[in-house]
Amino acid sequence: MKKILPLLLFSSIIFAQKKVMYQTPYEKGNGNQTATYAETIAFFKLLDKDFESIQMVEMGLTDSGEPLHIVIYNPHKNFDFKQIKKNKAVLLLNNGIHPGEPDGIDATMMLYRDLATGKLKAPQNTVIVNIPIYNIGGALNRNSHTRTNQNGPESYGFRGNARNYDLNRDFVKSDTKNAKSFAQIFHLVNPDVFIDNHVSNGADYQYTLTYIATHHQKLGGELGSYFKEEMMPEILASLKEKGIEATPYVNVHDTKPDTAGFTQFMDYPRYSTGYASMFNVLGCMPETHMLKEYSSRVKVTYEYIAESIKFIDQNYNRIKLLRSANLENYIPGKHYTLQWKIDSTQVTPLPFLGYNGDYKTSEVTGKQRLYYDRSKPFNKMVPYYQSYLSTLQVTIPKAYIVPKSWWNVIELLKINNIEMEPLAKDIEIEVESYRIKDYKTSKQPYEGHYPHHNINIEISSKKIAFHEGDFVINTQQPGVKYLLETLEPQAIDSYFNWNFFDPILQQKEYFSNYVFEDTAANLLKNDKNLKAAFEKKKQENKPFADDADAQLDWIYRNSVYYEQSHMEYPIYRIVK
Ligand SMILES: [Zn+2]
Repeated sequence: MKKILPLLLFSSIIFAQKKVMYQTPYEKGNGNQTATYAETIAFFKLLDKDFESIQMVEMGLTDSGEPLHIVIYNPHKNFDFKQIKKNKAVLLLNNGIHPGEPDGIDATMMLYRDLATGKLKAPQNTVIVNIPIYNIGGALNRNSHTRTNQNGPESYGFRGNARNYDLNRDFVKSDTKNAKSFAQIFHLVNPDVFIDNHVSNGADYQYTLTYIATHHQKLGGELGSYFKEEMMPEILASLKEKGIEATPYVNVHDTKPDTAGFTQFMDYPRYSTGYASMFNVLGCMPETHMLKEYSSRVKVTYEYIAESIKFIDQNYNRIKLLRSANLENYIPGKHYTLQWKIDSTQVTPLPFLGYNGDYKTSEVTGKQRLYYDRSKPFNKMVPYYQSYLSTLQVTIPKAYIVPKSWWNVIELLKINNIEMEPLAKDIEIEVESYRIKDYKTSKQPYEGHYPHHNINIEISSKKIAFHEGDFVINTQQPGVKYLLETLEPQAIDSYFNWNFFDPILQQKEYFSNYVFEDTAANLLKNDKNLKAAFEKKKQENKPFADDADAQLDWIYRNSVYYEQSHMEYPIYRIVK
């Protein structure tokens, strides 16, 4: 007994010390405080040092000058992703993309601690990777006011990154070092499931947890159905058993959710889960409700991740199989949807725990204002729209050709793990080519750009002379959806829309009317078809017939003198 007693005493002292040692700053605080950037990194460094199941690695820079970190948890102590990917699933957690929404930062610190110390059951088939704080610049820019409508924590980071970019719009255009480093992390760990933690804005209702599950139609095929019909419902059901009710992200702003219902958010590739979806990764953005207490938001975020881990661990094989099988939906000759719109005829009645909303006279403006009455909770069905219609499709080509001169595009394709084959010699290839016929440009700057939209194209087949070192990119690779979403100019988040190809929209050479007059006269004399088309246009179009400049310009544009590169989209499709 004498020997056992001091041992017991000793181990209980160790236990008490451990408990204190591994308490997170959030736990040490008053429940309304979130860890700073320095505290977060220090905490994970400590876990890395003390637990063999945890490894922390520096992974590329951010705009702030500070490096990103990933923290890997593997109870089997293997941190080589080539080996891990052979027989395990990987869950990637992203935190602090919007550092004013830090719930995931604190939840993940506790979760890693609980996994490492055995408080949470170690998954056997799942490795967890987390980016402790993705927007480091924003996290360092700490304040207590910019989340105007949010109920805590006491202080937090800012939404914009070190250069004021919203990182959750930057996943395709990758203006920031953060996004470029993220792509490298993403393809290194090749996650099967991705969770990006947020806090919502918008209406008031009873739920603490809402979520944006990546759109099943964009995810595609059986993988999309599995996510929508099996995976999300099962995770939500297990949360419900723990007393946590959740609803899809309440996609209404300044109206009430129960007036006309709401639609499922379409997470285009600029957003984190939309980016993940291009690589057939099942993604979800938990969006805790801004008006709920910080501690209850951290708790539901923790539980959402914990239940996801349980689900992934039980179903890792199925998830991995469905992911690889999904590539069969994107083979050459099949159609791929570039644009969607909500199908207002497909209504899903959604049980909804809301608060009665009404209008009263504003003290500020004297006009009618919306308010919610929390003494009048309701549970009723609201219309929910989650089906989208495909409004524009493209046929998937066998390959794309990207001339080596578009190195800005090539650089992004490379960091996104796209395999490309440089041409061994100069060669003419029969390709499908796009001419930009029309486009609209945003009048307001948006995330460092004046993006384009409503692109109209003319398609033609022709032989183009390519050069040694231009890249042929076979579409039959894991990044096929990434290629379609970025290289097809009409896709919502195409590189064209994000201004990568703006130089082709400007004509570089012109003519002087008085010199071109004689050339134009000769052109019409020597080309009967041109002459006929010119006369026809004059007859049909009175303003044109009255406009000498327009007529000369028309002849110029239909002649060999007009530069071919103007409006010619410089990425080509091999379809035969
Ligand atoms: Zn957010």
